[in-house]
Order: sequence, then C-alpha cells, then structure tokens
Amino acid sequence: MTEKSISANQGGFVSLVGAGPGDPDLLTVKALRLIQQADVVVYDRLVSEEIMQLVNPAAERVYVGKQLNYHCVPQQQINQVLIEKAQQNLHVVRLKGGDPFIFGRGGEELQTLAQEHISFEVVPGITAASGCTAYAGIPLTHRDHAQSVHFITGHVKKEGMDIDWPNLSKGNTTLVFYMGLKESGNIEQKLLASGLSAETPVAIIERGTTPNQRVLTGCLTQLSHLAQQAISPALIIVGSVTRLHSQLNWFNPSSTH
Ligand code: SAH
Repeated sequence: MTEKSISANQGGFVSLVGAGPGDPDLLTVKALRLIQQADVVVYDRLVSEEIMQLVNPAAERVYVGKQLNYHCVPQQQINQVLIEKAQQNLHVVRLKGGDPFIFGRGGEELQTLAQEHISFEVVPGITAASGCTAYAGIPLTHRDHAQSVHFITGHVKKEGMDIDWPNLSKGNTTLVFYMGLKESGNIEQKLLASGLSAETPVAIIERGTTPNQRVLTGCLTQLSHLAQQAISPALIIVGSVTRLHSQLNWFNPSSTH
C-alpha cells in the first residue's frame, strides 16, 4: 500500500459493534453511544427494529442481511462496503446481532480492514447464548449440573471442520448450538451415538429476549421434533440445566413494553 493511500484512509473508522440478542435494553452503553454518533450503520438481519430506531436519524443505513432474492449478501461485498465507506472518511458502525466475535464473522471483516490499513475498534455484545438463557431462566453453569459450557455452530459442514461429538457427550456440560434448527436431526443422532443419554433434557429458545420469546423443552430424543415447531432465530440448549427453566423462568414476554 502506498503512503498516499494510507493517508487517504486516516479519517475513516469502523466500529464493529455487538447489538445483543434482541432486547434494546441489552445494548451496551458504548454501543448506544456509537450508533447515535455514526455516519453510516451497516447492519444485518439479526439487529432488531427497536435497536435500529435508536440509530442517528441522519446516518446512512446499509442493510446487508438479505437481498431481494433472499440470498445473503456475500461476505466479500460486505467487506467492500465497509472499506468504501471508511475510505470516504466516514465513521462506520458495523452492527451485528449478539457478539461480533461469536459466530459473527467479525474476525474476517476486521482482517480485511487491517489489510487496507483502516482503523477499527470492537465493541462486544451480549451473545445469544448468554442473553437468551438468562431470559429463559436457564443458568449455563450450575454447581449441581454443569461445570463447563460449549458454544457450537449447527452449521457443521459449512464451517468446515467436524465437531468432536464424543467430547461433547461426556455429560456435566451445557451445550449451546447456534444455527442448529435445520441440523437438529443430525445433532440429536450424533449426541446419542456418542453416548449421551436419551433422557438428557433439552430446550429450544426462539427469538430470545424479545416480546416473542418462546421456550420449548423436552428430552434429547425429541429434539428434532421440537425444532420443527421452532421459529428462527433459535438456540438449542442441551443439558440438565434446562430443567431449571420451569423453576427459574421470570421473563413474561407479554408484559414487556
Ligand atoms: N453473533 C451472534 C450469533 C450469530 S449466528 C451472537 O453472538 O449471538 C446466528 C444464530 O444466533 C441464530 O441462528 C441463533 O441460533 C442465534 N441467535 C441469535 N439471536 C437469537 C435470539 N434472539 N434468540 C435465539 N437465538 C438467537
């Protein structure tokens, strides 16, 4: 990169910001400040309408969730938008659902910016696993139930490497599958084949932390059946902590404002 183009990029700046799982009250103070100050907000499907209402009214909004033909905007095109806007010396907020570094491709976007010598910062958000389980009264760890927690992508094949199913099936651990609805049959079979008990309790949390939150519960052999009734976005939680939902459920979506 030439000295000239480095200096051309100096004014532009990209804030990679996590928007949390849906409830606007779960935005961080920093995220709120940044979306109110942004020149451009590049956002995707998982960022709720309520959160977009908090964005600086003068800011340009670029939706990169889905195109008219319902295909996702290719990652390369999103990277290009970020680069172009930053090169116009604008403050760009790249707003993503949950946390940008958890199944959010945040790392890939930043690598592109780094290659172009564009300055950036990262603002963590509450990831779906954390927000949705909190609102469902399902503690991810509990001394009597789980000593560890795994966050796993349900898009097994798409993500490339296969999953270490025997390691996940040892028990005393909570499994949280992101993007798992379509792969629920495979998840159920692999966990059973690796030795996890058929009675293992499971929960599906759909549209967590929003007024439409719904929690479906059952046991491992019912997982794919439950998933067929669930609406995206949804998380699959596997482990005995999910039993606590009936006792600790505090969130009454219909009473949210
Ligand atoms: N970066 C995000 C995850 C993006 S992957 C984060 O940290 O939360 C998208 C997946 O996240 C969805 O398929 C779903 O499994 C999960 N997810 C995101 N928001 C959710 C919500 N409000 N309720 C349930 N699951 C959610």
